[in-house]
Amino acid sequence: MEKVQFQAESKRLLEMMVNSIYSQKEVFLRELISNASDAIDKIYYKTLSDENLVFAKDNYYIKVVPNKENRTLKIVDTGIGMTKEELENNLGVIAKSGSLAFKTENESKDGHDIIGQFGVGFYAAFMVADLVTVETRALGSDEAYKWESEGADGYTIVPSSKESVGTEITLKIKENEEEESYDEFLEEYQLKSIIKKYSDFIRYPIKMDITSSRPKADSENEFEEFTEEQIINSMVPIWRKNKSELTDEDYHHFYAEKRYGFDKPLKHIHVSVDGTIRYNAILFIPENKPFDYYSQEFEKGLELYSNGVLIMEKCGDLLPDHFSFVKGMVDSEDLSLNISREILQQDRQLKLIAKNISKKIKSELKSLLKNDREKYESFYQAFGRQLKFGVYNEFGAHKDTLKDLVMFYSSKEKKLVTLDEYISRMPEDQKYIYYATGDSIDRIDKLPQTELVADKGYEILYFTEDIDEFAIKMLMNYEDKEFKSVSSGDLGIEADEKDNADDESTEEEKEIFSAMKEILSGKVKDVRASKRLKSHPVCLTADGEVTIEMEKVLSMMPD
Ligand code: ADP
Ligand code: MG
Repeated sequence: MEKVQFQAESKRLLEMMVNSIYSQKEVFLRELISNASDAIDKIYYKTLSDENLVFAKDNYYIKVVPNKENRTLKIVDTGIGMTKEELENNLGVIAKSGSLAFKTENESKDGHDIIGQFGVGFYAAFMVADLVTVETRALGSDEAYKWESEGADGYTIVPSSKESVGTEITLKIKENEEEESYDEFLEEYQLKSIIKKYSDFIRYPIKMDITSSRPKADSENEFEEFTEEQIINSMVPIWRKNKSELTDEDYHHFYAEKRYGFDKPLKHIHVSVDGTIRYNAILFIPENKPFDYYSQEFEKGLELYSNGVLIMEKCGDLLPDHFSFVKGMVDSEDLSLNISREILQQDRQLKLIAKNISKKIKSELKSLLKNDREKYESFYQAFGRQLKFGVYNEFGAHKDTLKDLVMFYSSKEKKLVTLDEYISRMPEDQKYIYYATGDSIDRIDKLPQTELVADKGYEILYFTEDIDEFAIKMLMNYEDKEFKSVSSGDLGIEADEKDNADDESTEEEKEIFSAMKEILSGKVKDVRASKRLKSHPVCLTADGEVTIEMEKVLSMMPD
């Protein structure tokens, strides 16, 4: 038996692979299952062009078989298998991908479902195994072969007695080391969850023999163990199904199963785009905000799939901060992945998808606002603050996207209203959009400054959150109407013939005012008589751009 040596470069590459490319060891299973799926796909594509072949779906599957006693894990597939030559070329030469070649040769036959392309995934097996055995028989071949390797040292190939077409890979799982345990890769439960996580939407069944216990027949307290073959993956991803066949229930189920949240989604958005870039996305607007939503710990992002295989659990680049509450996933065939399939090589496609998604979320929120006010308000209770931050952040770069989505409490309507609604109700002589700031609606109601504006019959928006005023300062105006604080010096109300200037005050008043100014020196700039007041004796007004409430917030900020 002749041992073929890897070339020096290959040796180094293999070591590098095993130790550094993947951030998580568990992805070895994703890689081997993807290869198995590709192998079945190849039979499928062959049957498309060969009239003598039929693709009997039931004959094609992948099976994962752990064996704790022997410390082995088998991955069996009924795919196309490999000839001796293919074993040498595809498994003997690192970075050679038979699947990529297949795709290139079969370009016309729509081979874009095939996952493999880099020719390195297979070697991920050496992250968890110190011996890998591949027994395989190629479709149409009367010989089977066994390839075996302990890693960087090279491999052997000998004839095998395998009778069925397909491939069986046996990993001898590594012994536990001081800081690293490999036992999970022999546990049914763990394997099941790794398959679910990465390979749930592989199109062929991934089977496992699952042992569980059940009450014995004719007995109440006795249990017996039994083993049955189960299909672990869902196979058809919900996003590839026809929207018209899907019910709200299906989406809710998906939301719960993917653990996007423990609540029910308020709304789902299903996007299928087949243009310059192809992708499917299922997005959810949650009903409640996650407990850590407005904290540092919260991490935004969507799940990113490439061809049904999970690439990234939280791809933050897919969501702008102002829509960080959105949950869900994106699947695309057009992503340029790097070798580990973890980070994207160049993100032009990703940027495009992100842009489209953002637009879609915006338009769906808009339609929710228009068609289901109650739902929108409940959404706004949870996430409105984030939208207002979005208006303010990045120097207002997103204000135009968000300005028609924000709402404030209205003195007239006694509920949340949009700026559009405010504008539509403005009397002709009203020049500004008025607002008042305070800790609560009750307290603003009692503000002396609101009296004159309210008396004029003008609507006032109540700002009770610290971000509110900063957000509208960033907006500056809405439909050409400027925002005006009810406590600003000039209210722009005609009847309000300016506050009394010094010369209109009596001598006595002047004396009192200057005495007050002295006592309050450093705290107020001026003390004047005002026509603004009706039932209150005194009020504070701001002089200039920064209002009293903003000053409070600013003084709380660290320098
Ligand atoms: P990639 O999948 O990116 O091509 P891999 O290192 O995962 O790279 O696999 C290398 C090649 O080995 C594949 O392209 C394929 O030709 C072959 N191969 C791997 N696993 C199997 C399998 N289970 N059945 C048939 N061929 C396989
Ligand atoms: Mg592969």
